[in-house]
Amino acid sequence: MRRSVAMTGSTEAELADHLLREDGQEDLCLGTWRPSTGRRRRTAILHRAILPGRGDRAIHGNASFEPAYTLRAAQEAAAAGVGLAFMHSHPRGSGWQSLNETDRIAESRVANVARELTGLPLVGLTLSGDRCWSARVWEGAGREVTPVPCETVRTVGATFGATFDDSILPVPQPSEMQDRTVHTWGEEIQAKIARLRVAVAGVGSVGMAIADVLARTGLECVGVFDFDTVESVNLDRLRGASRLDAFLRRSKADLARQLLDEGSTAAAPRHEIHEFSICEPAGLMRLLDFDLIFSCVDRPWPRHVLNVIAYADLIPVVEGGMTAFRHVDGSLRNAYWSSTLVRPGRPCLACLGQYDPALVQVERDGSLDDPSYIANLPPDSPIRRRENVAAISASVVAALLEQFITCVAHPSGFGDPGSLRFSLRDHSVKRLDTACRAGCPYPLSVGCGDARLDPTGSHAAAEQARRTRSTVPIQVAPLRVMAAGHHALGERLARFAQ
Ligand SMILES: [Zn+2]
Ligand SMILES: [Zn+2]
Repeated sequence: MRRSVAMTGSTEAELADHLLREDGQEDLCLGTWRPSTGRRRRTAILHRAILPGRGDRAIHGNASFEPAYTLRAAQEAAAAGVGLAFMHSHPRGSGWQSLNETDRIAESRVANVARELTGLPLVGLTLSGDRCWSARVWEGAGREVTPVPCETVRTVGATFGATFDDSILPVPQPSEMQDRTVHTWGEEIQAKIARLRVAVAGVGSVGMAIADVLARTGLECVGVFDFDTVESVNLDRLRGASRLDAFLRRSKADLARQLLDEGSTAAAPRHEIHEFSICEPAGLMRLLDFDLIFSCVDRPWPRHVLNVIAYADLIPVVEGGMTAFRHVDGSLRNAYWSSTLVRPGRPCLACLGQYDPALVQVERDGSLDDPSYIANLPPDSPIRRRENVAAISASVVAALLEQFITCVAHPSGFGDPGSLRFSLRDHSVKRLDTACRAGCPYPLSVGCGDARLDPTGSHAAAEQARRTRSTVPIQVAPLRVMAAGHHALGERLARFAQ
């Protein structure tokens, strides 16, 4: 299991304000955390700072604390059913900090109290003078208690901050292929972007193009989630898809695998391709291993899943879409496309009108895959809309990638621009000032992690799509292997099929 820590930008600012003192001395504090568990990664989401009161700690160049402070904070964490975190600063240090002997002894003592009272391991964090966080999780108990390093510490605010333990995730050496990219934003940003685990939920016209761009940018791990099959109606806008792919009923995920294999500029890519819907428990479990997600889905249920985890698990979601309107004679009236970053402090997808929460249950029932149900919907229902062209999809791709780049490369310190709406007819862009409605449940669930209400369930359409593909006739199987670029293997299978 890999380990990581995440916190909101406002929690980070509160902690940094306390820990980085004007007099340049070290300081410390305690806090609480909640688990967010994926398939291969467990994230500790910092929940709340418990700042020291009078007499709780002494500052003398270094900082020391009273056992009563630890005990009080551990009891508070235990009462809330959350874990305990211990934070201190190295004002003269820079970059990821390794644990020195003094820190090791101090934290190991807190670790045993934390484990005993909360039942959860202590999370230790160090903040260096250049505002770089490092973290470890204290596993085991008693004399056996040991710090296990986290691979990342992530901060989700107007910008996306990430610091890495280089011994677990080494800085990737930029290759000649990335010369122009690195020249644009420098080696430091490239070292950050290349190590981010970015998922693309849905690889249709928008998602496939985004996955390709991310792989070419040098990201070492792009995650693809799609259960769907390539069909001839996709060919007017699906990057990389051919008539043969549609004829073979190849999965979109498999097509994405080929595109990523061929387009990656990373030295050692380890992309993850999943033929799951993110609405399935197995899909969500894998999605929680990622740092940031592109939402390229068009149904209410997966949008609801992403809306939940953007807040509960602090995994920001870049979302957008397009709508085209026609005159009564069928000609194009106008098209709009939008982009937004869903994260704590910004409006959620339901309040932005990107999906209708009432339709989530309708989709779970399977009704949205029932032609008679669809036929009875009003003609202007978003579920019935079919307008989509490659040229406008390309604009959506650009709008989403711009949100991503602003958030991770923060040009001149600028972050997340808010929700944007573009109009084709007059080529204008508008900033939307929508906020979450009063009582909206999503912002109230920030950082609750595994305590979230489970948004997943069994997904009949995904199961059916995988079943249909697995019953491919034996004569067609070799063609499918060839289409995936494995010509020699395909020819051997073809001889076997005869
Ligand atoms: Zn220290
Ligand atoms: Zn909302």
